Amino acid sequence: MSEYTTKCLIIGSGPAGYTAGIYTSRANLRPLMIEGVPGGQLMQTTEIENFPGYPEGVMGPAMMDDLRTQALRFGLETIPGEVTEVDFSKRPFKVKVNGGSHTVTADTVIISTGASARYLGLDDEQRYLGIGVSACATCDGFFYRNRVVAVVGGGDTACEEALYLSSLASKVYMIVRKDYLRASKYMQARVMQNEKIEVLFNTQTLGLFGDDNLEGAHLVRHQGTPDAENFDIKIDGFFLAIGHKPNTEVFKPFIELDEAGYVVTEGKTTHTNVPGVFAAGDVADPTYQQAISAAGMGCRAAIDAEHFLLMNV
Ligand code: NDP
Repeated sequence: MSEYTTKCLIIGSGPAGYTAGIYTSRANLRPLMIEGVPGGQLMQTTEIENFPGYPEGVMGPAMMDDLRTQALRFGLETIPGEVTEVDFSKRPFKVKVNGGSHTVTADTVIISTGASARYLGLDDEQRYLGIGVSACATCDGFFYRNRVVAVVGGGDTACEEALYLSSLASKVYMIVRKDYLRASKYMQARVMQNEKIEVLFNTQTLGLFGDDNLEGAHLVRHQGTPDAENFDIKIDGFFLAIGHKPNTEVFKPFIELDEAGYVVTEGKTTHTNVPGVFAAGDVADPTYQQAISAAGMGCRAAIDAEHFLLMNV
């Protein structure tokens, strides 16, 4: 078992966490980061075209590698693993990693654990997980070259995944429960212009079928109306892109969360209800959820932590 002490513990390694790492290192707080899966969700994205400073766009993993390298350059230390228990009842705070293989004592904590992919909640999703069902086109798309796949969802993520899969698969269905795409106009246009993508509007998934591997999906159009119509599509892959849920379970006993589970922060600050614990990025931001807004919030959390240490420790 290893024990660590730090002025600032950063939990999570997405754009918010690494940006907080850059700022707190440069403020000489000698921060420590528990990385989880290094790079967070952006390790599973393809090209990012809207992060300022990359005029030609950048691949998600490459950008995260840049952010990590920049934070390490200023002295951020990292340990791999998942936080399994926290005690925020008094300062200094105590955090256990991987069930106690590491313990950390920290004067301040920045929570930047991001969010994880949501599933529909069908039993069949678990049955075919890894053999047809995936929540990451970038990770698993390769297995569906020249095959038929479906993407569930109508947001930017779903459009991005459908476009990526269209470069590999022979056909891509998008299963969209409303009669419109929620995605940005630009992404909508790219999807609608792509000949390999067929958007099934007003459609929901009832189940999946197949003997050893996934062979298709049972769908319904206009569910719950007199026009309801059940039909099947033959697919080899079923990709979920219906949003995310914040990774806050472990903080629940101490940190105030909203009804969707996001960390509640005070006004324009990154302060949580526990003085000395701050939150940044998607874990505390149900609204914007962009890499650049997460990075900005990581900067604010670092500055809030620095001020807190000046005044309180
Ligand atoms: P969103 O919440 O924007 O979209 C989720 C989609 O999934 C919606 O179409 C929603 O339908 C659908 N959905 C949710 N639950 C179900 C369900 N149970 N059954 C069927 N469909 C369901 O999530 P995203 O992950 O797409 O995006 C999150 C944020 O990240 C957004 O702000 C987005 O703009 C941003 N983003 C930006 C990118 C970029 O700029 N490059 C890339 C990816 C994401 P409905 O509309 O009916 O609610």
